[in-house]
Amino acid sequence: MIKELIMIANRLDELGLTKEANIIDDIVSKNMNKLAELVGDQHKIDANKDGEITAEDFEMLQENSAAYGKKSCPKCGAENDADAAVCHNCGHLF
Ligand SMILES: [Zn+2]
Repeated sequence: MIKELIMIANRLDELGLTKEANIIDDIVSKNMNKLAELVGDQHKIDANKDGEITAEDFEMLQENSAAYGKKSCPKCGAENDADAAVCHNCGHLF
């Protein structure tokens, strides 16, 4: 998706439509930030550090949390108190 947008932006640049190209550049860079954030959060969830988010990671997170009287958010993986009603990180309702 982003690759295609960059291609369109480059094509618009070639055609001299720099204003239009800049708008697409802006959209791309905003979405790049979103992607980077997503990857950053996934790092936290990757409990066994194998670079992939799998069911094993969620099991490990749940085991770790149970040992400290905490529970991990099923949505973002953040640790919350066992009696928390809402995730302090993403606001997910337990
Ligand atoms: Zn959460």
